[in-house]
Amino acid sequence: MTRILIDNVDYLLTVDQHDNILEHASVVIEDTRIAAVDRADAIAARYQGSHFDRVIDGRRTLLMPGLIEAHVHLSEQLSRGLFPDSLTTRPWVFNWAKPFYAAVDEEAEHWSVLLACLEMIKTGTTCFLDMGSQNDAGITVQAAAQAGMRGITGRHAADVKPEVIPPYWTPEMVAHHFFRDADEALAALETCVKRWNGYADGRIRCWVNIEGKEPCSPELHRGARELAERLGVGTTYHIASSIEEARLSEQKYGLWPVERLERIGALGPNLVLAHVVAIKEHEIALLAQRGTKVAFCPGTSLKIAKGATRIGKYPEMLAAGVTVALGCDGVSASGALDMTRQLYLAAGLFKDARMDAAMIPARQAIRMATIEGARALLWDDEIGSVEVGKRADLILFDLNQVEWVPCNDPVQTLVYAATGSSVKHSIINGTLVMENRRVLTLNEAEVIEQARRLTERVVARSGLKRGQIPITTSLYD
Ligand SMILES: [Zn+2]
Repeated sequence: MTRILIDNVDYLLTVDQHDNILEHASVVIEDTRIAAVDRADAIAARYQGSHFDRVIDGRRTLLMPGLIEAHVHLSEQLSRGLFPDSLTTRPWVFNWAKPFYAAVDEEAEHWSVLLACLEMIKTGTTCFLDMGSQNDAGITVQAAAQAGMRGITGRHAADVKPEVIPPYWTPEMVAHHFFRDADEALAALETCVKRWNGYADGRIRCWVNIEGKEPCSPELHRGARELAERLGVGTTYHIASSIEEARLSEQKYGLWPVERLERIGALGPNLVLAHVVAIKEHEIALLAQRGTKVAFCPGTSLKIAKGATRIGKYPEMLAAGVTVALGCDGVSASGALDMTRQLYLAAGLFKDARMDAAMIPARQAIRMATIEGARALLWDDEIGSVEVGKRADLILFDLNQVEWVPCNDPVQTLVYAATGSSVKHSIINGTLVMENRRVLTLNEAEVIEQARRLTERVVARSGLKRGQIPITTSLYD
C-alpha cells in the first residue's frame, strides 16, 4: 500500500453535504482513495509513528476536489483562434468546426488530446466528459490515460446529412461524420463502449455519445439513451444550443428542443445535455422530472453569442433541482480549458444580468464545478468531494500567488480572483500528476512542439484558411 500525507493545508474545501471548510487540515491517501480527512493535529495524533511514502507540505495552500469539466471537445484543441470570433452557433458548427474535425487525423488527435490534458491538469481539472474522438476512440482513451487524467469519452456520431451538401464539405468529411442510419451508428457506439469503458483500472470510461440536434434522427437521440441504459453508462449530446435551433424546431415540429426530446422518449437520468440555452419554463420541469443533467458552458456563450444571460434559465434550473454542471467546451468555442474562468462566469453573469446579487453564490458555483459535475458524469459515488472513501482526485492552490493575497475568504478568493495558473499540485486517483506546476505524466515541451507541428498540417487539410467560408448558414433549415 502507498500512503501519502498532505500535511496542514491552510484551507480545505470538502464540498461535502454541508460544504464544510476546514482550516489547518490534513488528508491521508491510501493507494487511490482518501483514508482520512481531519484537522492537522488530529491526523498527527492518529497516525503517530505511521510510515508515509510521501509527505506533501500543505502550508500556504488551499486543498479542494479536482475540478470536473462536464463538456469538452479534446479533438478541437489544435483549432484555438482559427475560427473568426464573429460566428454564432450554427455557422460555427456547420461551416467551421465540421471541416476542422474531419481534418484531425489519428496522429493529430493523439497530440490534441495530450495538449488538452496538459492544459486541464495545469489549471486544476482532474476529470472530463469529452464529446468523443474523431477517429478510433482508443486514441483519446489511451492519450488521456497516459496523461494520468480521469475522464469519459466516446465516438462522435450523427446520422442525418443536410439535404444539400455544402461545397466546403469534402466527401471524406461526410463519410467521416455520418452513419447511414441510427442502427448503424448505435452498433458502432456499442462496440466502442464495450471495447473501451473501464480502461486504465476504471479511470477512463466510454459512453454512448452522439452529436445531437439536426444532424441526429429522433431514433438516434432515443436509441443513444436506451443503449446507454442497457450498457450501464451515460450519454451526452448538444441540444437547445441556440435560439435559432429552437425556432427551427418549433417551425418543423411545433415544439422546442427539450419538449421534443420528451415526446420522443429521449430524456432520462443517464443523459447530459450540453448548453440548453433555449428553454421554456415547462421544459425545465421536464428535465427535473426525468433527472436529466445539464452542462452549462458560460465561456462559449460569451464567445459565440448564445445568450445565456438574455434567454438562459440556469438559475431557474438550479432552483428546480436540475443538476447543472460547468464546461469549458472546446477551445474554439470558448478559448481555454481553464475551469476557474467558468467558476467566475457562473457566479457573476446572472448577478449582473438580473441585477440580483443573490444569483448563484460563489459556493454554488464551486459545487457546480465539483460535486454537481460528478453527479452529471454519474460518478459522484467516487469523486467530486473530499470525503473518506472517495478516490483521491485533489488539487492544491498556491496561496503565495499574488491573486490569493490576502485571503480573507477562501471561497470568494477562489471564485473571483484565482486563475488556474495558481494550481500548485494535482493528484488524480491517488497519483501526483503535477508537482509545483511541473506535470509529471507528460513531457510538456514535447507535447507543445508536436501540437504546433500538427496544427499546421490540420489547418492546411481543413481548408479553413484557403476558401471563402461563409459566416452564416441555412443548413438544415
Ligand atoms: Zn460541444
